[in-house]
Amino acid sequence: MNRPMTEHSTTQGPVTPVRVRMAPSPTGSPHVGLVRTALFNYAFAKHAELTGRGGTFVLRIEDTDKERSTEESYTAILELFRWLGLTWDEGVEVGGAHGPYRQSERSDLYRDVLAKLRESSYTYDCYCRNDEVEARRKESGSKVMGYDGFCRELSPEQRDAFVAEGREPLVRFRMPEGSITWDDLVRGEVTFETQFVPDFALCRANGDPLYTLTAPVDDATMRITHVLRGEDLLSSTPRQIALFEAMKAIGVAETTPAYGHLPYVMGEGNKKLSKRDPQAHALAYRDQGFLPEGLLNYVALLGWAIAADRDVFTLEEMVEAFDIADVNANPARFDLKKAEAINTAHLRMLPVEEITHRALPFLKAAGVVGDPVRDADAQLLELAMPLVAERVNKLTEVADMLGFLFVDEADFTRDEADAAKLLDETGREVVKAAHHAVAAVGTWSTQAIQDALQGTLVDEMGLKPRLAYGPVRVAITGRRVSPPLFESMELLGRERSLARLASAL
Ligand code: GLU
Ligand code: ZN
Repeated sequence: MNRPMTEHSTTQGPVTPVRVRMAPSPTGSPHVGLVRTALFNYAFAKHAELTGRGGTFVLRIEDTDKERSTEESYTAILELFRWLGLTWDEGVEVGGAHGPYRQSERSDLYRDVLAKLRESSYTYDCYCRNDEVEARRKESGSKVMGYDGFCRELSPEQRDAFVAEGREPLVRFRMPEGSITWDDLVRGEVTFETQFVPDFALCRANGDPLYTLTAPVDDATMRITHVLRGEDLLSSTPRQIALFEAMKAIGVAETTPAYGHLPYVMGEGNKKLSKRDPQAHALAYRDQGFLPEGLLNYVALLGWAIAADRDVFTLEEMVEAFDIADVNANPARFDLKKAEAINTAHLRMLPVEEITHRALPFLKAAGVVGDPVRDADAQLLELAMPLVAERVNKLTEVADMLGFLFVDEADFTRDEADAAKLLDETGREVVKAAHHAVAAVGTWSTQAIQDALQGTLVDEMGLKPRLAYGPVRVAITGRRVSPPLFESMELLGRERSLARLASAL
């Protein structure tokens, strides 16, 4: 057979194509942990694709919790993945053979599976109220939290008595005796003693399915081969594996997926990065002017490395190199400074025209240019961008740096702190001399401006360049950090440059 060789084909017999999924719950604003999980799933699937095995990346939305799920969060999640370029092959909006991909649209399936499970011995009806379970736990002094198995072997009389009271049962999964072990793709062998895993509810008393049921049912029916997700879900894995055995017995599942749990991400003070941390919000990076390439590269480092001495790489390079076995099981530390440095490295890799293109929405939002961009502004932007492309670390800084060129003179302002510092009495003397010097410039060019300013301020007055140009820079651009001064003055033009020097006095 003319099947391409893959690295797995020799050890595992015929290779099945990889199917992985991203299964976010649309509650609140998407977290960087979600980006990490999505990225590793994506890289895993695309690597499998690249090596001939075949890989499908599925996006399904786990919105069974009606109270907490919001449309706003759903939209934010899709916006996030689209911005990052983590394109899903199958799932919400794009469809596929195993849809629908929103759990809220799959209730019939869950009810159907639940009915089948209820007829089997893998589950039993439980009539207990939470307060009764809690009271029994207190009385027995048991350390095991959760359900105690009270209804496992109810007699028909006991059941009738509960029904006569008008109680509605919920369906509980009967955890098997012994232990459950799996070969975690990240952590190696993991074992849970099932005596510490209580029988869990699959639905509410009103029949509404719970996550404990819906996620494994979807993984089974969507034919997911590998479940890669955060370590916070580790404790649900023995339950899901047990449920898979039941689903195989009733014909819902074919095989149990492999599981891999990605390490925790720690924030400040070595606490888990939580939704309360401002740096946890993934879309905030976009809004601050991060490049998707930069954020993805940084997030890849939360548990993975392309090489011991290399931090900067592209998504394509990650896909090519990615092997889940290389993921480190130890907690990863989130380091905003490093994220910023990596983002800067990606900005430096982009051609100026591309930076301009990416900065445009920020320039519009900041009112630096209009929407649509006027021709004159577009031309000025083309001339000005090369001056800042090498100096910015985030796209928002383009607007900060170039605003002075585009602003109407009447609206031009200077940074108060910078002005206070550099346009003091000595600074104003410098600006005065600069005004004299450049007023005499013949042809208004960068070189002529430089010659005039250097001749007067540095050569004649004997000022150090920093002391000479700092005040002029604040007078002209309004800020201490700006594009190169002489080029900026050329672009600003003679009249406006002179006016600004004058107004600084
Ligand atoms: N919906 C779950 C969550 O947002 C993920 C479930 C899973 O990956 O198995 O945490
Ligand atoms: Zn019970």
